[in-house]
Amino acid sequence: MTTPNPLLTDSPLPRFSAIEPAHVLPAVDATLADYRARIDALLADATPRTFANTMLPQETLENRLEQVWSPVSHLHAVRDSETLRAVFSQAEQRLSDHAAELGQNRGLYAAVKAVADNVDFSNLPRAGQALVEHALRDFRLSGVALEEPARSRFREISTTLTRLATEFEEAVLDAAEAWSEPVDETALAGLPEAERALLRQYAQDAGRDGWLVTLKQPSVQAILTYADNRGLRECAYTAYQTRASDQGPDAGRFDNSARIEQILALRHEGARLLGFANAAEESLATKMAASPQRVLAFLHDLVQRARPVAERELAELREFAAAELSLPDLQPWDIAYAAEKLRLKKFDLSEEELKPYFPLPAVIVGLFAITERVFGVRLQMRDGVEVWHPDVRYYDVLDVDGQVRAGAFVDLYARAGKRGGAWMDVCRSRFSDGARTHSPIAYLTCNFAPPLEGQPALLTHDDVLTLFHEFGHGLHHLLTEVDFPGVAGISGVEWDAVELPSQFMENFGWQREALALFARHWQTGAPLPDELFARMQAARHFHAGLFLVRQLELGLFDFRLHLEYDPALGARALELLAEVRREVAVLTPPAWQRMPHSFTHIFAGGYAAGYYSYLWAELLSADAFGRFEEAGAFNRAAGDGFRRSILAVGGSRPALESFVEFRGREPQPAALLRSYGLAA
Ligand SMILES: [Zn+2]
Repeated sequence: MTTPNPLLTDSPLPRFSAIEPAHVLPAVDATLADYRARIDALLADATPRTFANTMLPQETLENRLEQVWSPVSHLHAVRDSETLRAVFSQAEQRLSDHAAELGQNRGLYAAVKAVADNVDFSNLPRAGQALVEHALRDFRLSGVALEEPARSRFREISTTLTRLATEFEEAVLDAAEAWSEPVDETALAGLPEAERALLRQYAQDAGRDGWLVTLKQPSVQAILTYADNRGLRECAYTAYQTRASDQGPDAGRFDNSARIEQILALRHEGARLLGFANAAEESLATKMAASPQRVLAFLHDLVQRARPVAERELAELREFAAAELSLPDLQPWDIAYAAEKLRLKKFDLSEEELKPYFPLPAVIVGLFAITERVFGVRLQMRDGVEVWHPDVRYYDVLDVDGQVRAGAFVDLYARAGKRGGAWMDVCRSRFSDGARTHSPIAYLTCNFAPPLEGQPALLTHDDVLTLFHEFGHGLHHLLTEVDFPGVAGISGVEWDAVELPSQFMENFGWQREALALFARHWQTGAPLPDELFARMQAARHFHAGLFLVRQLELGLFDFRLHLEYDPALGARALELLAEVRREVAVLTPPAWQRMPHSFTHIFAGGYAAGYYSYLWAELLSADAFGRFEEAGAFNRAAGDGFRRSILAVGGSRPALESFVEFRGREPQPAALLRSYGLAA
């Protein structure tokens, strides 16, 4: 190739129109080779270790790798092709080998440790200290600091756990795949058109006529929410709630029981090798919650407050189901069905009624207007930037003084070759490399329904909240003032606190004053009527108590399972679950139900002893937003405070310290209850 590889040229933004799949492997290989050579040179250098000669070079190498890899992984997500997919997975393997090699590099660990032990360490800026401390922590958690034979045993445990996690997830997927139930049209009474079409599609995919109920989540949800046929609901519930277990229609075929035992035993052993009392203690090493007692107190306190509300909601539902649905003995497979009927009766709220008030172009203008009022920053579209699809827009982020300090690519419509869902990703990190400061650049990706002929794209209110949520992650990245990528923006932020800015931004989607800026009927221009807004508010908190006790059950089960593990007794998963349910649940599922066997969040995802984080982060965001409820949604002092104390500092200091600086006190659970409409 005579033209230079666009992934390796030092351009301010990725060269999207020039990047081809053929560029990927050469660029990744060259960058990784250079990375290795420079680490070797760094370790061969005998000069005393300092931040400048040990940490800065690593940040520079990481930053270069990000410049090469971020556009590639982004294109893989938003403009996939077979050729790209092939080189992507090869490159990804090389990157993960490289990361594993770095994580196990004892020389590098010793070098970073020497920086921490250097007398000048305490004179480093806060962000520099955090960078070193995080690096040491991660080395320790990877087992590299252990001596033999513990070191080898730890590696063996890690490898086995990775395999077990994959097997656990595959068993859940295979179990879901193995079960289906063909139905005729009479069985579908109650299902809306879209849900019927979905089941028809499943049948077609399976090469058959008619309709097929499967264990894919949308199918199960459709049946449990809408099917008038109670036997069909029970049948779908039973198959779904016993998948990959020793119960139900496929009992024993994909059973995860033994894996649950092994996973918990190995996690416990690994945690002990690293010097933790148990896997829950280990999990908290990267989280904001200071101790297991703190997590348990948080969850138990919420149980006390949410359970009476859930009991009242269930009593009302029972009464309604008996009187109006002829269901005097409400069963678990009736809950969603009866709740949907009750919701319709109480609020009569449909997405179709709301969508005309949320044309996408107006929502964007509104979101930017809110951002300007609250944080003083402005987003301005810039033409002529290279993008990967004509629908993509690029915005400069202008600070109060009019200076461009960041940029964002925004790609909002669903299309072929684009992964589903919504996310914010890092394109470039903010980095002061000693010579200059690189600006942070973000990708903001959603999958909204594209505009139809003659009308703008109309969003559901959920879509609006999704956009605000991802934009909140974006602000965290874009408004960082930290110089080192490893602890700037969302990097290095504790796991249970990283959703604070995103969930915080969602609140604006529920503020009357904020909605007044943009929620207007796309044809008539009429503002969102007060009466409709009141129904939205009321429906928002429908069955909040039942939702909360469900989350608390999962959170307590997960945390106690890891905290109380005793090698002499084994996992005791089902006994523990029964114990948690006696405290938390208002409607106890049948004894054959096997929730743990498909709880992939904790057995195959990253949520082990961390499921509580969902509620924890919600508390933080609700309590942070409370200051705006007190001072006014657009209060600039509060906005500047949030920006300075939380958004600007990223992972450069503990999240609790940032929160306390912003709020003037520690988080209080009352805020979470208020946001659920459960305030006493
Ligand atoms: Zn998020």
